[in-house]
Amino acid sequence: MSTVLVVNSGSSSIKYQLVDTVHGSALASGIVERIGETVGSIKHTFADATTSRTDPVPDHGAGLRAVLDLFREQGPDLQEAGIVAVGHRVVHGGSVFGGPVLVTDEVMDQIDALSPLAPLHNPPNLTGIRVARELFPDVPHVVVFDTAFFRTLPEAAATYAIDKEVAAAYGVRRYGFHGTSHQYVSTRVAEVLGRRPQDLNQIVLHLGNGASASAVRGGVAVETSMGLTPLEGLVMGTRSGDLDPAVLIHLQRNAGMSVDDVDDLLNRRSGLKGLSGENDFRALHGLVDAGDPDAVLALDVYLHRLRKYVGAYCAVLGRVDVIAFTAGVGENDEIVRARALENLESLGIAVDLEKNAGRIREPRIISPDWATTTVMVVPTNEELAIARQAVDLVGDAPDDSADLGHA
Ligand code: ADP
Repeated sequence: MSTVLVVNSGSSSIKYQLVDTVHGSALASGIVERIGETVGSIKHTFADATTSRTDPVPDHGAGLRAVLDLFREQGPDLQEAGIVAVGHRVVHGGSVFGGPVLVTDEVMDQIDALSPLAPLHNPPNLTGIRVARELFPDVPHVVVFDTAFFRTLPEAAATYAIDKEVAAAYGVRRYGFHGTSHQYVSTRVAEVLGRRPQDLNQIVLHLGNGASASAVRGGVAVETSMGLTPLEGLVMGTRSGDLDPAVLIHLQRNAGMSVDDVDDLLNRRSGLKGLSGENDFRALHGLVDAGDPDAVLALDVYLHRLRKYVGAYCAVLGRVDVIAFTAGVGENDEIVRARALENLESLGIAVDLEKNAGRIREPRIISPDWATTTVMVVPTNEELAIARQAVDLVGDAPDDSADLGHA
């Protein structure tokens, strides 16, 4: 058996999954939450049984050790699990990393140097790697970056039209995020359709709590909606997405807001939540059905932005063979899927309401047969994608570099 322990370490949480890379399945998974608070929580699922604990989890080290205890007590036995690598998700790889890498001290320093571009993400990602290297000193550790798939963006798409010297000095450009998901889904689309990725032009809509769109030409990412940070682009659960940059200037000049206030406003008090008080689509639809005008407007703003991106990416690609929905909203919300693409028949784009019905767990075509663009729902699986990239890298590593990941 060949398995990878995938670790996604956030500021106050650690998500993990033990992935069987041969069968593409999760053997066990779980989440540690509220790290550093008075009471933390841990959930571990193995063989259809979930064990939950509420214990103080003072730091990431304690969190991962508690996870190892749960593996020992509830299974599966990690000594027997055939772990060939630990795969880590890191949000920002800047212009440095265009693919997965084996963790070395130098790589850790490079990720640390990118922290100003992702102050909320890269430092906790690094903490997770540090702790995991101590706990798994004999296995190679591999980092997969959220930005890597978008390293291929053409300069015209990646460049912001500001003073080029300021941009160069501070690394200001479009990096893109959710790359692991966009890459996985666009590859799956080709597999499911029995086509070669190089023959397909695709728009991928990753709609979760965070949301992003990408244009993928022949398997290569050519445009994406997130930018320097994961704030740009689509309307999200709590993030504004696109706005006039002068809004920031206006609020700082006239509303007495500090840099941190604006950061908090745009990242945590905006999007669907800012407009309606709700960031979960299940609750938002309830409010819409009850006629709540704020919720109605929030949904309209969300869909308007999404349609604008679909239209823009049709122009970027010229010919669109596939539009693929994925992530929590994309996989589960038939209303969002149908309304996002309604009245686009003149572009050869449509959704068949019967095929579109319900929550979708397996890849499915939801467009009518006559449509020239195939609309699909393709569930994402970032953990599997990270695990497979880790196995590929470890397998490909020359013998003498297999030790690089050892602490
Ligand atoms: P992230 O990984 O960005 O935290 P997910 O991809 O898990 O987010 O998506 C979470 C979102 O998916 C929820 O906030 C909710 O809006 C939406 N969602 C989940 N289940 C459903 C459902 N059954 N119907 C509609 N929306 C759903």
